[in-house]
Amino acid sequence: MRTDHSSSTTFGIDYTVASFQRIFSILIASALIALLATCAVLDQRAGGDSAADSAPPLLLISIDGFRHDYLDLAELPALQRLADDGLRADGLMHVFPTKTFATHYATATGLYAEGTGVVANNMWDPERESSFSLGNRDAVSDGYWYDGEPIWNTVEKAGKVAATFFWPGSEAQVGGMRPTFWKPYAGDTPHDERIDQALEWLDLPPGERPTFLSLYFSVVDSAGHRYGPGRPEVIETMQEVDRALGRLIDGLEARGLFDDIHILVTSDHGMTEIALERYVLLDEYLDLSQVRVSDWGPAAQIWTVDDGPSAEEILAAVSAIPNAKAWIKGNAPERYRFDDHKRVPDVTVEAELGWMISNKPYYAGMQLGQLGGMHGWDPAWREMHGLFLAHGPAFPAGSRFPAVRSVDLYSLMAELMDVPPAPTSGSLAPFEPLLAADIAMTYETTLWDCPGRRFVVRIAPGLASLETSGRMFSLPAVPAASGAKYQDATTVFWAKGDEATFEIDGERWSGCGRVRP
Ligand SMILES: [Zn+2]
Repeated sequence: MRTDHSSSTTFGIDYTVASFQRIFSILIASALIALLATCAVLDQRAGGDSAADSAPPLLLISIDGFRHDYLDLAELPALQRLADDGLRADGLMHVFPTKTFATHYATATGLYAEGTGVVANNMWDPERESSFSLGNRDAVSDGYWYDGEPIWNTVEKAGKVAATFFWPGSEAQVGGMRPTFWKPYAGDTPHDERIDQALEWLDLPPGERPTFLSLYFSVVDSAGHRYGPGRPEVIETMQEVDRALGRLIDGLEARGLFDDIHILVTSDHGMTEIALERYVLLDEYLDLSQVRVSDWGPAAQIWTVDDGPSAEEILAAVSAIPNAKAWIKGNAPERYRFDDHKRVPDVTVEAELGWMISNKPYYAGMQLGQLGGMHGWDPAWREMHGLFLAHGPAFPAGSRFPAVRSVDLYSLMAELMDVPPAPTSGSLAPFEPLLAADIAMTYETTLWDCPGRRFVVRIAPGLASLETSGRMFSLPAVPAASGAKYQDATTVFWAKGDEATFEIDGERWSGCGRVRP
C-alpha cells in the first residue's frame, strides 16, 4: 500500500489565515510567471528559430475503466514510476454520460457531449434516422457521428504527424481527416504489439515521426464489468497493463527518449458495484412500444415517436421511478452540458449511483454474477473519476494535483506539442502555474463547515476540487472581485479569508467557516 502524499503540500500544512493568504499571493505570483513564460515563448517564435519543431512528442494512453484509486490497490511499478517522477492528479472528472465513447472523444476534443454529438455508446440520430452502437463497425468508422476537432487532426493541421493505436473516433474521417497512422479497432491485439508499434513509430526519421501518439487498453474495464471494481481479477489485468507500460518505459530508455517525451496516462471513467436488486424496469412505468429508448443502464435516453406520448407525458411517467432523476431536453444539470445537440434525447432518466435502468425481458434473461460493475452516472461521483498521470519535461517529479477536468486535457496537449488549438469548452488555466514553474507543485487540503453540509476543498494554483457527500467536482480558478473563486458552470467555491460560499447545481450554502484541525 502506498502512503497518501496529499497532506504534504507546497503551501505547508498549517491551517492559519496567513497560510491561506499566502496561497492567494502565490496564485498572483504564478499568474505573473505564466505571463512571463508566455512572453518568452512568443519571443522565441518571433525570433524565427525552430522552436515549433522541437516540441517533444506526446503519448496519450487510455486504460479503460481504471478508477482513480486503483493505483493504490496493487503493486504497479511502471504506473507508480510515472506518478512519482511526474504529476498525479486525485482524479479525472469526465463528461456526462461517463460512457467510453462519450468520454474518450471528449478528452480528444476538449468538448462536452453536446459539443461532440457523441452522447452515449448507443445513440439515435433523428436527422438521419439511424442508430450508432460501439459494436457497429460502419457507424464507428463514420465521421458523421463525431463533431469537433480531435487532437490528432489539430496536430496534422499544424503540419505534424499523428499516430493512433486505438482511440474512439480515430477510425473515422472527422472533418475529412484521419491521423497519418491509425488502426481499425481489434481488441485482441496483444499489448506488446501495441507497445512495439508505438516505439517503431518513434524510431521514424524527423518529418515522419509522429508528434502525437495514442495507446489504448481495454482489459481493466472488461474485468471491472464482469467481477466488480477492484476485485482480484481486475488487479490481474491492471498488472498486465502495467507490464506493457514497463516494456514501453524500457524501450523509451533504450532510445534515450524517456525524459524527452510527454506521457499522459488517462482512463475514461471509474467503476462502481451493481447488483440484481438495484434495477428499475422502465416498462413498469412506460409502454415501451410507444417510445424509442436509444441507451440503457445508469442513464436511459428516451425519444418520442409518432402517435406516442409527448416528452412532458414521458417525463411525468418516469418521474415516478424511485432512485432516479429525469429531465426533458434543455433542462439537464447545467454542468453536464447535455442539452444542445440533435442527438440529445427528448427525455433522460439518470439513476442514482449503483442503480440500473433496464426492462423486463432483458432483466429476466440476466443471471446472478453476470455483471458486477458499471459506469455512466454523474461524472462528479468519486467512483466515476478516472486516472490522470503526466510524465515528461513539463511535469516536475512529485507534483500532485486536485482532480482535473477531462475537457482541459486537449488544451494541455496542444500547448505541450506547440500546435494551435481549436476552440474548446476547456481551458489551459489549471495547468499554467505548473507549466511556468520549475518545481513540483502540490495542493492544500482545507475543511469547511456550512449549515447542514461539510466540504473538503483541495486548492492548487489554477484549480481546486470540492468534495462532499460522495461527489468531487473539479473547478478551475476564475477571476473574482475579492478573495479566491473557483467555478464550473453552477458549481462554485468562493472563499474570502476564513469564510466561504458554496454552490452546487443551484443549491447554495453561505456563511461557511473554515474548520481548524
Ligand atoms: Zn470505458
